[in-house]
Amino acid sequence: MITRRSLFALSFTAALHAAPKRPNIVMIYADDLGYGDLGCYGHPTIKTPNLDRMAAQGMKFTQFYSANPYCSPSRSALMTGRYPARNGMNVVLFPDSKGGLPPEEITTAVLLKQQGYSTACVGKWHLGHTPNFLPKSFGFDSYFGIPYSNDMSPATSANQNLQRRNAWPPTPLIRDAEVMESEPDQSQLTRRYTEQATTFIRKSSAAKRPFFLYLAHTMPHWPLAASAAFKGKSARGLYGDAVSELDWSVGEVLKTIEQSGEGKNTLVFFSSDNGPAPVGLEGGSAGLYRDGKGTTWEGGVREPALAWLPGRIAAGVTTSAFATTMDLFTTFSQLGGARIPADRVIDGQDISDVLFRNAEGREPLLFYYNQGPLRAVRKGAWKLHISACNVAPGVNDRRYQDLAKPLLFNVEIDPSEKFECAAKNPETVEELLSLIEKHKASFTPGRAQT
Ligand code: MG
Repeated sequence: MITRRSLFALSFTAALHAAPKRPNIVMIYADDLGYGDLGCYGHPTIKTPNLDRMAAQGMKFTQFYSANPYCSPSRSALMTGRYPARNGMNVVLFPDSKGGLPPEEITTAVLLKQQGYSTACVGKWHLGHTPNFLPKSFGFDSYFGIPYSNDMSPATSANQNLQRRNAWPPTPLIRDAEVMESEPDQSQLTRRYTEQATTFIRKSSAAKRPFFLYLAHTMPHWPLAASAAFKGKSARGLYGDAVSELDWSVGEVLKTIEQSGEGKNTLVFFSSDNGPAPVGLEGGSAGLYRDGKGTTWEGGVREPALAWLPGRIAAGVTTSAFATTMDLFTTFSQLGGARIPADRVIDGQDISDVLFRNAEGREPLLFYYNQGPLRAVRKGAWKLHISACNVAPGVNDRRYQDLAKPLLFNVEIDPSEKFECAAKNPETVEELLSLIEKHKASFTPGRAQT
């Protein structure tokens, strides 16, 4: 006989089976890694077997963008789903900066924590390093890492302003809010971050709690370093060594997830905060994209991006769907069962249909900011620069200049932005100029922090 209680039990069991389990989420963020620096993105000498495995077992993006070509702003966009000019974090922070991500900003970690997730941030935060701006103030249960770039101390900086640079403290390694070490050995950072990350995964899995791990590596940002197991081992010098160690770290994270029995329930997403730095052979490659870090050419913001969740993300898919780091805020939060805040503009959109159903995605629409100022826009295939640096080929002058005549490129058929075609497409130029004007008119800048 079917009683009311057994009916309830049946329907409860059915609901359990019907609702997809909330996945664990692991976001791995490299620093200044270029689009062309991974084996699975075509690098001929840097070997990245673990990242290649992520691509072979998951999804590889070819039109994935960071919201800014600099460290602090790009990270703020990933965390908040908002353009850095909107969330206020539109400058790079230095050790003498007092501010950080405005406290009223809501991060993915805050939303996922509210849903019962364990949350951890390991590595480079770079959204404020004074006590009120560290990760624990933004939804993370724990933090371990260097809170800004690894070239921001008297010992490591190349800043020409010696008076300013010498007033900075030694590079701090922080646990939660306490400085544990000063000027830690940078060749050990990737390994130490990885140990923290895998311990967190094991503990959270054992506790049967869903988890969100934000693993933001210091490498391969200049000055480069790699541990003895990797130093001198790649065919691409110290840069290749550092990327190889990063790849090893990804392998350790995947292995730990699988050994913890969470291999079919953990979304791992890998990307980079901005394109390769202009530091010669100590920087990376943007592949076929033009220029790199600090510029709004494609090489500054078009990033490698891999998504891995065996059983839910199809294996071996290369997608040309347009997506941005801001979309990850929305997607991760909703996968964890959180509602997206309705009291503010969120620029990111849910890309679950791309990830789990290999949908085509939306028409590309991106406003390219270089820290604060707006420099370019992309809509569909077309990209219009209203202000640019390094305009003349082969000239490395990173000062931006407003362009009397905007530059137009079709980045679908000319992804390297080599063939300027404004004169032949005056209507497209007008359309994109008016799009910029509309965007500016409706855009409310955030409370700037420095
Ligand atoms: Mg960076």
